[in-house]
This record gives sequence, C-alpha cells and structure tokens, in this order.
Amino acid sequence: MPPAARGRARRPLREFELIEDIQKRFGATHRSVVRGIGDDAAVIRPAPGRDLLITTDLLAESVHFDRTTTTWEHLGFKAAAANLSDIAAMGGRPEHLLVSLAVPPDCRTDEIHDLYRGLMKACRPYGIELVGGDTSASQDGLFVSLTVTGSVTHGTALTRDGARVGDLLYVTGTLGDSLAGLQLLQPRLGKTLRRRLARAVVDYLIARHFAPTPRIDIGQLLSIRGLASAAIDLSDGLSGDVRHICRQSRVGVEIEETALPLSQPLKRYAETKGVQAADLALQGGEDYELLLTVPPSKVRLLERTARRLRCPLTRIGRICPKRVGIVLKDRDGMIRPLPPFSYEHFHNSDINREAACSH
Ligand code: ADP
Ligand code: MG
Repeated sequence: MPPAARGRARRPLREFELIEDIQKRFGATHRSVVRGIGDDAAVIRPAPGRDLLITTDLLAESVHFDRTTTTWEHLGFKAAAANLSDIAAMGGRPEHLLVSLAVPPDCRTDEIHDLYRGLMKACRPYGIELVGGDTSASQDGLFVSLTVTGSVTHGTALTRDGARVGDLLYVTGTLGDSLAGLQLLQPRLGKTLRRRLARAVVDYLIARHFAPTPRIDIGQLLSIRGLASAAIDLSDGLSGDVRHICRQSRVGVEIEETALPLSQPLKRYAETKGVQAADLALQGGEDYELLLTVPPSKVRLLERTARRLRCPLTRIGRICPKRVGIVLKDRDGMIRPLPPFSYEHFHNSDINREAACSH
C-alpha cells in the first residue's frame, strides 16, 4: 500500500465526524449547489453566459503563518480574504469554497471550528457556499488550502496584460497598513513599538493585517463597465506586484511617491519608528487592495463609480513606454528606478526574521 493510501486507511473516525459537523454548521444551502459536501464531488449548476474563475492558495504553518501570533479565526478569515481578493482582481463574483486541511496531532476540534468560523465570516457577505474539501492528518504543522470559484460575464475578466501607454494607474484603499500590523505583532520589536503608540493606532493596523477587505464590489463594476485595462490584487506589495502588470502588458510605469494613499495610523506608526511611511506603502505585502490601469477616457466614470461605492481610490501614477522601466518620482521630484522590494529588503533586520514567518 503506498504511504498516501496508508495515511487514508488509518484516518481516525473523528475526522468523519468532523466533516459531518462542518457540513451541518457551514455547508452550502443555496439552490445553485445541486450537491455539496457528502458526495464524491460537488455538483454545481453554472449560470448561463458566464465564465468560470477558479483560484487556489496553500498556506503552510511556519511559512505563511505562525500559530503563536494568530488566532484560528483570524487565520481562516485571512485565508479566505486572500482568495476572494484574487477573484476581485479578475472582476468576478465569488461563488463556492473548498477547504483542504492537513491537521497536526495537537489540533483540537474546536480550533478547526474556529478556523471555519473565520473562513465563513469572510465569505458570508458575498453569499459564498462551502461545497467540499479534503481532510488529512499531518505529522508536522498545519496546512490549509482553499479553492474559491467565481464567475464573470462572458469575456469580461480583468487580466494583467491589457495596460497601454497613457493609461493611469490607480489603487484602492491605503497601502502599508498590513505590514505595519505584522511588525506590531512581532513579540520583541513589536512590543516596544506597541508601548509607544496609541491603542487605536495599534488596533487599526493589526486589524488591517488580520482582516483585509477584499475589493469584490468595485472589482465587479470594473469588469461589468469595462473600466480597467488591467488589474491585479496587491498581495506581495506594490513595488513587486506592479511589475506583473508591466511585464505582461509590455509597458513601463511611473509611480508618484507623494500620491501614495497612506492611512493616519500608518503615518503615526512610521513617525514613531523613524521610517518613511511611503516606503512601507511601496514594500508592504498583504494589503489585498486592487491595482488597476485605466484609459484616460474612462477616468471620470471610474471615479464616479468608486465614490458611489464609497471605495477609496487614488491615482498614483501612469503607464509609460517599456523603455522607461519601472520608476518612482520621489518627493523631491527626482525620477529613479523603483527596486522590487520584498522582504529580502530587510534581510538582516530582526523584524524581518520574525516577519518572514508570516509570508
Ligand atoms: P473522498 O474520499 O471521496 O475524497 P472524503 O471523505 O474526503 O471523500 O470527503 C467526503 C465529503 O466531505 C466530500 O464531499 C468532501 O468534499 C467533503 N470534505 C472533506 N473534507 C472537508 C473539509 N475539510 N471541509 C469541507 N468539506 C470537506
Ligand atoms: Mg477526500
């Protein structure tokens, strides 16, 4: 018997009970789900005239999250929000969720329920239905893999390759908050900073780290109304993610540092820490905001649409010919190449060593 099959045969009975319990508490109820949890595969009746979107994400303990600094509910919420954000970036309506778990021996049933509570909390506002998954034991560490489906009107999905020279670059929300929240959660360095900041500032930034807002509503209007020529969600940070649009659209970009949308709490945090808030905004991962390019003729309609949805939207730059490269106009008006920051940027700092755990 191959090792995988052996693992399955030895699966303790309580895992079947767990699945039954999950089905009762969180399983699909909507008509479009012909068969949900409990059969060999889910049966979904697709709506006519729509294209199907499918996205999946795997989170591994110690690589993407740290069970000592997150709660199970937060972990679930954020895992779902990250997947929903991918659907948002395609302009889609999220529809179904599958959850695969590899559970280490020290996990309790109530902890798994908390994980699902967080997952469903992120999904409920959009009517997403849990239709299946898989459950296995893990010898070391928790693994959570989510698959989310969605749909868009036939032919309208937003992609990364449609940006054209002269388009304007926009971003939703504010940037850098999640990175600041992550740094505040670090046991040693975060504690010193937490003491020096107002409670409301700390709470806001940590909440932005644990509970990002997937930009589903505006994403859907962008695709329905054909407002964006390209879009991506910001999971690795603006300076890294903008590169995907540039590469796939074969264009360059100029970002204006002074235009970056920064929250008040982020500014307070940066001041206290003695760093530039704009640097956090450029580097910060896990903001899950949408970055989009917009032809000049669509700008007025876009801005009106965002205002009506009360979705903060800021113009931060413009698409240039490829030869310009990826550049930043800094606060002194100097134009310089924008390096692809990532967490390596802080490679030797303690914060990054601690923070690496979360990415
Ligand atoms: P199979 O052996 O055919 O894969 P399983 O016993 O793994 O069947 O799964 C039975 C049902 O429970 C399926 O509908 C599956 O999608 C669902 N399921 C299994 N694990 C989970 C989970 N962690 N969350 C949600 N649904 C699950
Ligand atoms: Mg299975």
